[in-house]
Amino acid sequence: MVTKAITAANIGINSCKIEVEVDVTNSLPSMNIVGLPDSAVTEARERVHSAIKNSGFTFPTGKVIVNLAPADIRKEGTNFDLAIAVGILKEQGVEISDDMTTAFIGELSLDGTIRKVNGVLPLVSGLKNNGVTTVFVPLENAKEAALVEGVVVYGAKHLCDIANHFADTKLERTVVDINKYLEENANTDYTFDFKDVKGQQKAKKALEIAAAGGHNILMSGSPGSGKTLMAKCLASILPPLELQEALELTKIYSISGLLQDDKPLMTKRPYRAVHHTASQNGIIGGGSNPKPGEITLAHRGVLFLDEMVEFPRQVLEVLRQPLEDGEVVISRAKNSIKYPSKFMLVGAMNPCPCGFLGDKEKNCTCSDFQIQRYRSKLSGPLLDRIDIVINVPRLTTDELINTKSESEPSSKIRERVVRARKIQAKRYAEEGIFTNSELSSKQIKKYCKLDEKTSDFLKIAAQKYQLSGRKFDRILKLARTVADLSGAENIMLEHVTLALQYKTEI
Ligand SMILES: [Zn+2]
Repeated sequence: MVTKAITAANIGINSCKIEVEVDVTNSLPSMNIVGLPDSAVTEARERVHSAIKNSGFTFPTGKVIVNLAPADIRKEGTNFDLAIAVGILKEQGVEISDDMTTAFIGELSLDGTIRKVNGVLPLVSGLKNNGVTTVFVPLENAKEAALVEGVVVYGAKHLCDIANHFADTKLERTVVDINKYLEENANTDYTFDFKDVKGQQKAKKALEIAAAGGHNILMSGSPGSGKTLMAKCLASILPPLELQEALELTKIYSISGLLQDDKPLMTKRPYRAVHHTASQNGIIGGGSNPKPGEITLAHRGVLFLDEMVEFPRQVLEVLRQPLEDGEVVISRAKNSIKYPSKFMLVGAMNPCPCGFLGDKEKNCTCSDFQIQRYRSKLSGPLLDRIDIVINVPRLTTDELINTKSESEPSSKIRERVVRARKIQAKRYAEEGIFTNSELSSKQIKKYCKLDEKTSDFLKIAAQKYQLSGRKFDRILKLARTVADLSGAENIMLEHVTLALQYKTEI
């Protein structure tokens, strides 16, 4: 007799329902797993065998064949163990639900303990979409699973708990009020706050505009000018995550195994600082067992590239596509996986190789040729995707002493950012975008109209600065954000003037 149990397999940040079929034939004792399993799944043989025996059940004496269907989807990881064990126990006559709307997820240890696995949120939400109404998951993953509304979740510690649940001792159902959780955990306590950054009003305003419109930004300045500190502060002025964004981000961290035990839901926008020595796979994603890279871990948050020109050219070029599309495609031998990657790029660089070009106190020792070669490491097409470029000069000793110690706190700046984001969300409700930075050329024509006076002014500026079409569009998008920050319905001359200040060339 063939028995069945339902589970799921992760594909990118989504999942696919998997049917585990178990058959035992009269033959020499052995166990085979078929249906495109990777090595971790094949090793389930040993784990399931020991777990069943050590939990006091009998393992079949014949040849056990386990089929994971559909067979054309590659099965990776250890989360199939529990469903395989359930299939075998049913074969042995143990009474466990035969209901195909009940699913089982979890890794087994040799003594039958159920261990936590990665990717539970995408697994359970995929199962829900396929008609599953009840899931059994490792106890440590139960809260994460319960984020999926409309599914009954039971967290189990041991294989025996599952059998007992269908006999006499019911497991306790895990329930999470997701809206309440998000509200209670909307963390507004940040380590880095703009109130601790002295001076740098222009750079701070630029970062506020970047946060408000979701614009990519590049800061050029000498060592010690506070670029890195300000990039860290940026996280503290971003708007709180919406529920759908939080769920999407949680899926990413779940499959990456980066969810903290006591925090089933991501409630803060990520800030990922990447070093130029990081591997391309580490930044973009991929590898033989593909995992999301930093650009996906920074989804809906900030990706900070310090010393941007030091990154290998190839890595910077590969960044262009995700910056444009908001997602990255990882190619594999048989198929490809898509990961979301809508992040704000924040870059920092020195103005020249020695770092002190334009500094008020130290002299630059670089030749024109060295400076030109240094800057040319950032290609035009990449710079085209960065809306704001600013110089961040180092404060002189006098300025450091004379600037008052406390500046405007991040919480105040965040209020303005949130207001501006709300205006954009409302305006673009029908467009499928959230921020001004996402505007297409066609949408720019629709939403960034200028009056005659402002239009004439911008045309003159465009000629003077020899602005290309793309750069012209960038100024309009920025001006739209500046207008939104001031609550103005139409873009006016003052907004365009301010936006033009951020067109600094490097
Ligand atoms: Zn220099």
